Amino acid sequence: MNTSNWKPLIFAVSAPSGAGKTTLCMRLLKEFPNLTYSVSCTTRHPRPGEVDGKDYHFITQQDFDRRVEAGEFLEHASVHGSSYGTLRSEVEGAVARGRDVLMDIDVQGATQIRSSMNAMDEDHHLRRSYFDIFIVPPSMEVLRMRLTGRGSDEDDVIRRRLAKAEDEMKHWKEYQYLIVNDDLEKAYDALRAVFVAAHHRVDAMDQSL
Ligand code: ADP
Ligand code: 5GP
Repeated sequence: MNTSNWKPLIFAVSAPSGAGKTTLCMRLLKEFPNLTYSVSCTTRHPRPGEVDGKDYHFITQQDFDRRVEAGEFLEHASVHGSSYGTLRSEVEGAVARGRDVLMDIDVQGATQIRSSMNAMDEDHHLRRSYFDIFIVPPSMEVLRMRLTGRGSDEDDVIRRRLAKAEDEMKHWKEYQYLIVNDDLEKAYDALRAVFVAAHHRVDAMDQSL
């Protein structure tokens, strides 16, 4: 037996905006080159420094709606007044190339994917390869400070994101893993541990030995 029995895994990470998901995920992607980021489509405008095709595919609402019609999304949701969706082609393409996939999705998207997975047989390879992780800040006050400190959103956007965070946090029990991002090093160690341990799960491996 060798690592060829290791199958590509799919990780979905959700967090209230500002909890530190991008910071933690970027670090994981850097450490594990076989992990590919699934670039989502969104109708929101790019923030300073964001690159089309790398951070998101920034598309119009019309294009987004057309892709929904065509069944191009694995899941899609309206978040903070904009549309976001995960392209099937991003995830399936990466898995076909033997790469692990990291998806950044909100609570609604994670719920949609979970229910698709739950509709599959328990031993379906995709269901066995899927892991979801919820990242939370240590408190709402810390979340407010991080959103303000990031300096990328207007005050009213921050207020909306904080109100939404309260609702989103109620869903933590639906996820397989929870990470509290208080101390960044400890939170990263936890995320890394989940990623590594998932690869050692017998039920996520190719069982055809
Ligand atoms: P998200 O992707 O969840 O919206 P970010 O990764 O952009 O969040 O983080 C929001 C802000 O908080 C950034 O300025 C980031 O540098 C900072 N940050 C993230 N994690 C921590 C942490 N553990 N301690 C202090 N600041 C943090
Ligand atoms: P932001 O605009 O801050 O990049 O992301 C806002 C929210 O949209 C975050 O909660 C993020 O997880 C979520 N999001 C990003 N891409 C997708 C996606 O493809 N699908 C869903 N459902 N949510 C997404």
